[in-house]
Amino acid sequence: MAGPLVGVLALQGDFGAHTRMLRALGAGVREVRVPADLEGLQGLVIPGGESTTMTLGIAREGLERPLQDLAASDVPLLGTCAGLIMLDRTHLGVLDVTAERNAFGRQIRSFEADLDLAGITDESGPMRAVFIRAPWVAEHGPDVEVLAAVDGHVVAVRQGDVVAVSFHPEITGDDRLHAAFLDRVRARAGR
Ligand code: GLN
Repeated sequence: MAGPLVGVLALQGDFGAHTRMLRALGAGVREVRVPADLEGLQGLVIPGGESTTMTLGIAREGLERPLQDLAASDVPLLGTCAGLIMLDRTHLGVLDVTAERNAFGRQIRSFEADLDLAGITDESGPMRAVFIRAPWVAEHGPDVEVLAAVDGHVVAVRQGDVVAVSFHPEITGDDRLHAAFLDRVRARAGR
């Protein structure tokens, strides 16, 4: 059986590693650079990178409205690091959260932690999470479920079929977050 077709926003950032991980899990992957690339997608990943550059790329390519329309059609999304920032209230407005950029401080540019992610790592043990100049969720609305926090700071959330995390799940070889994303994609395709 052919895998689902998912997109990875490929304007800037760590999209190649997401593409490889999703393909290894059996998904068809299309890198998204222009609105036409969104046609027929059953899920979309917005990778980490640099959120100002990504915002400019989205504006340049006319992708803001098409991305919002895709999210409004209940297609599962996964945002990581800068991808979480892109989904927040002040960017695409898909998630009812306010992300704070570089929230862990400039002096702590990068660190790792073992995280339990509600509904994703339950039985299988924590996930090694790599944070690189990571944001956190400073504030969120009532429909947002917190999946994980570090030192009391929210670093993983779910709202409907949209999951966003502050860290980089594509670089550790632990594919559970991507596998859970594809499970949501298949579940929606079967509805
Ligand atoms: N600090 C970056 C930003 O604000 C995000 C970092 C990342 O995606 N690794 O855009």
